[in-house]
Amino acid sequence: MAGTGKNEEVLKESFMTKRSQNKRAFTHPNWKERWFVLSPENLIYYDGDKQSGRRKERGRVKLSQVVAVECVDTEVFHRDWVFQLCYNSEENEQIVLYIAAATSQERDQWLDHLRRLVAQNPCLSDHYHNGCIKGNQWTCCKGGKDVSACTRVTWTNNNPVGQPTPSPTPDARSEMMPQRKVVVALYDYNAIDPGDIPLRKHEEFEVIEDTQEYWWKMKNLQTGVEGFAPSNYVREKETLGLHQYDWYLGDATRQRAEVFLMQQEREGCFVVRNSTTNSGIYTLSLFSKRSHPQVKHYHIKKDAEGNYYLSHNIKCQTIPDLIFRHQHNPAGLPVRLRPPTHGRHAPTIPGPHPDKWEIDPNELNLLEELGSGQFGVVRHGKLRNLDVAVKMMKEGTMSENDFIEEAQVMTKLRHPNLVQLYGVCSMYRPIYIVTEYLKNGSLLNYLRSKDKVLLNNNEILLDMCLQVCEGMAYLERQKFIHRDLAARNCLVGAHGEIKVGDFGLARHVVDDEYTGSGGAKFPIKWAAPEVLNFMRFSSKSDVWAYGVLMWEVFSCGKMPYGKAKNTEVVEMVVQKGCVLDKPRFCPDNVYNVMRKCWDRTPEMRPAFSDIIRIFQDE
Ligand code: ADP
Ligand code: MG
Repeated sequence: MAGTGKNEEVLKESFMTKRSQNKRAFTHPNWKERWFVLSPENLIYYDGDKQSGRRKERGRVKLSQVVAVECVDTEVFHRDWVFQLCYNSEENEQIVLYIAAATSQERDQWLDHLRRLVAQNPCLSDHYHNGCIKGNQWTCCKGGKDVSACTRVTWTNNNPVGQPTPSPTPDARSEMMPQRKVVVALYDYNAIDPGDIPLRKHEEFEVIEDTQEYWWKMKNLQTGVEGFAPSNYVREKETLGLHQYDWYLGDATRQRAEVFLMQQEREGCFVVRNSTTNSGIYTLSLFSKRSHPQVKHYHIKKDAEGNYYLSHNIKCQTIPDLIFRHQHNPAGLPVRLRPPTHGRHAPTIPGPHPDKWEIDPNELNLLEELGSGQFGVVRHGKLRNLDVAVKMMKEGTMSENDFIEEAQVMTKLRHPNLVQLYGVCSMYRPIYIVTEYLKNGSLLNYLRSKDKVLLNNNEILLDMCLQVCEGMAYLERQKFIHRDLAARNCLVGAHGEIKVGDFGLARHVVDDEYTGSGGAKFPIKWAAPEVLNFMRFSSKSDVWAYGVLMWEVFSCGKMPYGKAKNTEVVEMVVQKGCVLDKPRFCPDNVYNVMRKCWDRTPEMRPAFSDIIRIFQDE
């Protein structure tokens, strides 16, 4: 019996956001907060929670009509912890409801509760779409609106993936326990803090506590040892898929894959990655020296029966099977496949302490000097066994209190292409800023010292620009303005990864020479006209500076505008509207992107997210 909403037994309730169900293709989907209530028969959502006396029902899903309960590819939504409920409507249309929970734990609980309640549905499907409809197409398989679902479900009643689910009995409903979260280590991790546990690749752990976003308390399922480890080093077993293989690079770009394979320099070395142009399709990138060292890219095709193939001689049901077969038989490829010897590079550790950004200077062991810049000396150091860079702020160069406040915000910024801020030592003077250490130093020096190898090696140079762009697109999404983007403020890691540093520092400088556009240290050559005229900083003035950085990269570290003095540059840029010339060997399409960044009207410049798209369409 369908409940009236008044007397129904409530099994779970909470606020979550729900994507509006737009029927029209071009309206922008928006997300609304709703109070969700789960009863044994229905999932009902309301305006307002139960306290607000006038809550209004906005919709309900009959659980008996649910076809699938699955996680979705969060990339296409730009949102975390999204799951979907696919169900048959009264009109017998299949509808997908997308819901974003507040935390991963919340999402898992909702998934678990819903799955138990729908486990006996005769209409359960064995496939689902893990993307969404965009422009009348599914993002996952590129099929039209009515194409059958493309991805095998991760959970069914007979085959609960990841954990032993007791078969649901009527009583099971009342004693629903939160689902156990099992994760698998993707990388090795050596414990840093005494409360940490080490991770070894492929080991399984149960997550005991995930209230901190980046440090989870886990239990090694083999040894029973418990402790903290970084959450970006593990992946939920349920969504592990290809991530368990060293040869899978996920969303890496074509340029990234090429750089990775060129570094390994092994005949037949390969990686598999998601195609940048077609979501739901995979690309094999393969290194061979046959004629000359080069990387070739092949789409992994699918036939009508859903089998994967690279050439018609070998067809397999899964990608790992296909790779395995091609390791023994080239069958149409130039060489047999050989997996990379050094797997993917482990990501940056998200700071040594869970949520402690004040670092005790006694825990720091200072080593050699790395360089010095306008804020003071930078030294290599060790924080326990973790390599760090320690920036010692010259006294009087910064408004310290403002900076310390901002540092709290900055420790929360996390992206593979941003230099990770680990914390500060602010109790003594000088203030120390402790960040991730990058072995190859500043991008500017790197470009200058390697110009012979790099000049005209456009794939590598473009990859560098793209990496900076990814970091900047993240800052743009966080509404954080860099204000001093330039090659000198980017750093290069041990494997050629590029990270943007010094973000937000410029705002706290008190030095007149630096802060006013007339000052000698002001980065005039990177400044947009509206910055030179009115000191108007925005993400779009960062885009202008990014254009200059691209120019630095493609000229391998030359000084923009050569020896021209600052006053001359201001005159050229502001009054005469001049821009930098195309560097020698720079391809036209790359220079065109720079020109777009140097549009005089800030609004006309592309956003960082647009620039990524331009590069990927090349
Ligand atoms: P500036 O940006 O003014 O050149 P910085 O104070 O940012 O100066 O850095 C000075 C130098 O210290 C850089 O050029 C680089 O060689 C080195 N450096 C800074 N941060 C790091 C880091 N996180 N890892 C390795 N080297 C670093
Ligand atoms: Mg710097």
